[in-house]
Formats: sequence, C-alpha cells, structure tokens
Amino acid sequence: MAVMTSSARPLLNRRLAEFGTTIFAEMSALAQRTGAINLGQGFPDADGPEAVREAAVRALREGHGNQYPPGPGVPELRTAVTEHQRRFYGLSYDPDREVLITAGATEAIAASLLALVEPGDEVIALEPYYDSYAACIAMAGGTRVPVTLRPDGDRFVLDLDELRAAVTPRTRLILLNTPHNPTGTVLTRAELAAVAELACERDLLVITDEVYEHLVFDGAEHIPLASCPGMRERTVTIGSAGKTFSFTGWKVGWVTGAPELVAAVRSAKQFLTYVASGPFQYAVAEALRLPDAYFAAFRAEHLAKRDLLSEGLAAAGFGVFRPAGTYFVTVDVRPLGHSDGLAFCRAMPERAGVVAIPNAVFYDHREAGAPFVRFAFCKRTSVLEEATERLRKAFAS
Ligand code: PMP
Ligand code: GLN
Repeated sequence: MAVMTSSARPLLNRRLAEFGTTIFAEMSALAQRTGAINLGQGFPDADGPEAVREAAVRALREGHGNQYPPGPGVPELRTAVTEHQRRFYGLSYDPDREVLITAGATEAIAASLLALVEPGDEVIALEPYYDSYAACIAMAGGTRVPVTLRPDGDRFVLDLDELRAAVTPRTRLILLNTPHNPTGTVLTRAELAAVAELACERDLLVITDEVYEHLVFDGAEHIPLASCPGMRERTVTIGSAGKTFSFTGWKVGWVTGAPELVAAVRSAKQFLTYVASGPFQYAVAEALRLPDAYFAAFRAEHLAKRDLLSEGLAAAGFGVFRPAGTYFVTVDVRPLGHSDGLAFCRAMPERAGVVAIPNAVFYDHREAGAPFVRFAFCKRTSVLEEATERLRKAFAS
C-alpha cells in the first residue's frame, strides 16, 4: 500500500534526499545476485582471533553486558582503550572522562558531527570521503567543503595549500581520515603537523577517523593527529574493533579526546543508540590487550594480500595506486579503455565475476573521481587469487 500524506511533499527530508542507498549495500547485493566475488564492501571473509570470539561467548554466558551497559561504555573497555593509546602512541587518557564507547566508528562519526556542528557551519572533509561523512554532515545541518586528494605518481596526495584555502570564517571543523579510505593514503608527520598548525591558527576542531590505524605498510607510520602539538585539546579521535580485530558485525568503536569534547559527543550519542554491543565490549577489551605479535601478524598478513591483489590488478591492465594503508587498492580504469568507473563496476560482475566500488560516489567533484575504482583485499588468499585470475582473463589483452 502506498504511503499517503496530505501534501505532495517528498517523504525523505531535504537533508537526506541526495543520498539514496549506500554504495556498499548496492554492490554487495549485486555480488549476491550475480554470484560474483565481492571485493567491494570492506569486510573480512574470515573472523578475527578465536580467543576474542571465545571472550564474547564467555561474556554472554556469564551475563556480562546482556543488559544495558553504562552509557559511556563498560569500564573494562574504556580502560583497555586508554592502555592501547598509551602502548602504541604514548597518549594518555582518563578512562572515565576521556573515552566513549560507540556503536562502531559509524556512530562515533555521527555523534561527533551532531554534537559539534551548528547548522550553517562548514566542515572540511578529504575527498574522496567515506560515504557516511557526507550524510552525517548533512544531518547535522552543516555544509561540506571537500578538499580533493589528487593522484601523484602511484599515490593520492593532500595539497596543503588547498586545505588552507578551504578554511573560511564559517569553518568549524576538519574531518580527517588517515589511513585514508578509499585511496590508501597515510598522512605523514609533516602533513599532520601542517594540519595541526592550521587548526590551531584558525581555531578549528578536528575529528580524525583512524579506524585503519593498524594497517600501514612499507615503513609508513600511523601518527594520531592528537599527538601533534596543540591538538590533544581540539581533536576527537575515532577507532573501531571492526577493522582492527576483524569483527565488523560487532559494531564496537571508540572516541578519545579531551573531557569537554567527549562529553559533547556523549550528549549526542546517548540519544542515538544510548548503548550497544554489551557482551562484545568485554571481548574487545581483551582484544585490545592482545600482544604486539597479534598486531604485527595482522599487518604482515594484509601486506601480503595487498601485494597479491595489486600485482593481479596490474597484470589485468589496471593502473594501480599503491596503498600505504587500509585494506583497499584504488585503480584507474582508463588503461583498460574505460573512463566511467560507475558503469565499469555495474558491468564487471557480468564481465569478470568480481565486484568493486566506484570511487566517484565518494566525490562532490564526480569528474575528479570518475575513472577510479576500489578493490578490497581483506579476503582469504584463495579468494584474491581467484578474483585476480578472473580479472586477468576478462581484461588482459
Ligand atoms: N570510517 C571508515 C574510514 C571506514 O572505512 C569505516 C567502515 N568500515 C567506518 C568508519 C565505519 O566503521 P564501523 O564499522 O566501526 O562503524
Ligand atoms: N567501511 C566499509 C567500506 O568502506 C563498509 C562499511 C559499510 O558497509 N557501511 O567498505
């Protein structure tokens, strides 16, 4: 039955009208429908450590977290987050006032923007941007101001002059993402120092999405922006167990920052989910305390997969950008004689039996992203081998 209202007004409000269905749902549905290998949506096809799964089972059985956990998150997990930030980055946070547990990084991003943005504020985001950024900036009534990462050799780079030029008297905050989805760019210490200097000079807040913090390669280093001079008190840092421990379905994320910032984000978060993922919070506390060897193996395994997929994509004829971080490879389809990545991705399941994501949907300047396509390599080696073989057969001349 059609939904009727008394006016001709569209049901979906103006803030969300431009967003439609997320590309991840569209492309995963396409993979299911066609039986193609799904290198689109970024989720691992093997679960994280057995011991962490068992910790979740134990928490469920022993009745930890089966009822509403505390609003800020269970103390065990908040403490484990502070230990993690200290162990890897030398950053100290107070688990009671400077940590907030969220329903994945997605809620952390939404709550941060809803808390910190007034209608009319400008929010600078690196383009291509993760799709929920645009929707959440819109829900907060903000205006998104994209700063485009541009191809330079085999990587995408941030033009610091463009970033500086994008700041206006209406700019409230910069929404940063490093390691960057979908390009794989990892901002260097010098680039982060420049962002920090700009934020301090223009009195901006920064939300920094660091969910791929443990996936950096080739000697690249993940440096939290909060560790740069002057930034601890103006930065909201976001992490996710989905990415770091390969449990994307558990939806456990976290925010760290100065007490006033975390309190503001908590104000918004309490009216979104209030709380989530009770028993999983206990399991993630154990995960964050895994020895360094876990994190090193996680990185090494993904490095091998990055190389396997990148080489396979190059052999199939794509122009391959080398990701220094994340579990995504962006390619250029023009060497294959195509220019429209969206059309290319819609046709690829039929043609090659593989699904990928068109980067254009992450751009306001669609033409700047048109020829780029993203493949995920957080999949079993045999799956990556099969996918690259299919691509080579379909495209290599
Ligand atoms: N930020 C980025 C850059 C991501 O790629 C993702 C998705 N995986 C998220 C946030 C959302 O993370 P979560 O699944 O923890 O909500
Ligand atoms: N972050 C994942 C990606 O970039 C997808 C998450 C989602 O489906 N919302 O592929």
